[in-house]
Amino acid sequence: IWSDVLAYVRNNISEVEYHTWFAPVKTLGVREGSLVLGVRNSFAQEWFRKHYLELLEDALRSLGAEHPQVSFEVLPAVQEAMILPEAAAPTPKVAAAPQPVRSSPDPELSKILNPKYTFENFVVGPNNNLAHAAALAVAESPGKAYNPLFIYGDVGLGKTHLMHAVGHYLAEKYPEKRIAYVSTESFTNELINSIRDDKTTQFRDRYRSVDLLLVDDIQFLARKERTQEEFFHTFNALYENHKQIILSSDRPPKDIQTLEGRLRSRFEWGLITDIQSPEFETRVAILKMNAEQANINIPQEVLELIARQVTTNIRELEGALMRVVAFSSLNNVPFSRAVASKALSNVFAPQELQVEMSEVVRAAAQLFEVTTEQIRGTGRARDIVVPRQIAMYLIRELTPHSLPEIGQYFGRDHSTVMHAVSKVSESIKKDEEMAAQVSRLRRHLEGLHEPEG
Ligand code: ADP
Ligand code: MG
Repeated sequence: IWSDVLAYVRNNISEVEYHTWFAPVKTLGVREGSLVLGVRNSFAQEWFRKHYLELLEDALRSLGAEHPQVSFEVLPAVQEAMILPEAAAPTPKVAAAPQPVRSSPDPELSKILNPKYTFENFVVGPNNNLAHAAALAVAESPGKAYNPLFIYGDVGLGKTHLMHAVGHYLAEKYPEKRIAYVSTESFTNELINSIRDDKTTQFRDRYRSVDLLLVDDIQFLARKERTQEEFFHTFNALYENHKQIILSSDRPPKDIQTLEGRLRSRFEWGLITDIQSPEFETRVAILKMNAEQANINIPQEVLELIARQVTTNIRELEGALMRVVAFSSLNNVPFSRAVASKALSNVFAPQELQVEMSEVVRAAAQLFEVTTEQIRGTGRARDIVVPRQIAMYLIRELTPHSLPEIGQYFGRDHSTVMHAVSKVSESIKKDEEMAAQVSRLRRHLEGLHEPEG
């Protein structure tokens, strides 16, 4: 059973996370209906409780357990390799129960929302601000703002998080409202079971009587005709009663193959919004929030190093952070760039690390003793214009960004950037002091990106 649990877990988290956290776990058997897992230290114990309890319960549920319970115990160092005999085990800890967000009249329907997935914990950036705004609008006036709300984007970019956030928001504001969160897979399975057990009426009643229906990963409706048919009627029943529907998918409705036309058109009735990969600044902000929530103090430069390594998937990004945290806590060393590169070195191939525009601006601001806001602002005083032009010049030199992109970053057009670049290249030929400053900045920025360790 443990290997089945592990297989399930492995499917649902990143490789990095899996190796960091699950590989060292020992199963200590079942005690008082609770699966007991041995972890290495109290830090890991805390971490599991916080981050993996639900996943493990889901895993057990997927294997048929009705009331899955999991608890974590710290393995005594000497016994780490042994399976503790049941009798010798210490007093069983109270198995931490999942915290249901609210009690619904129908326990079946009140699927547990992840308590971490709230609006407060959602970092807003240019990559997701539209989806975030739409979700917030829907949470504030369900059934009225956009219906359905269709959120699409690649895996690990926050779709499920946003859906749950709407659920939490609504549950708090209107405790009487009924909320259902379901993956398309579970919806399909429940339907199949209800047909088998002759309980389709109950199935229908359940889903057609909610105020908010969240259906995750709707792309899996493709090729499931019977489920599409059923979902079509569920959709209509809710829609006609002005009940809010939110759907997520890894692609827009038009790209979901073999989706019935009438469903596709319904998905397009409301608002379709996407989530893109987060920019560097947003990735750093997400890491920062995660570290703060775990009460871990990690220097900014270490967070930036991690954010440069993982660029597309936020789940992977969080996994990389955990790996760094685990590495330094297991080896009892403070966080540093060197430790972080070491912790990540087996996982991420050393790569050309890209200098970010924000780093150039920050470095220039420091050197010239102005603020980053001044550099990116509109002020025309010479002691700001020169650092600004140098920043533009170095961004052009050190990053792959185009002139219009750089212009946009500074709120200007590409010709301003072009002018700055040629101005600086001219100046450094004549002005030694300026040449020295520029090369000092360049060395500093390149140094930041040299692999360490
Ligand atoms: P998806 O459903 O798109 O595959 P998830 O919603 O499961 O992605 O998000 C993956 C992980 O990344 C979750 O732990 C989630 O909390 C986190 N995450 C995603 N977007 C953000 C964000 N904008 N701010 C903070 N955490 C985020
Ligand atoms: Mg998801």
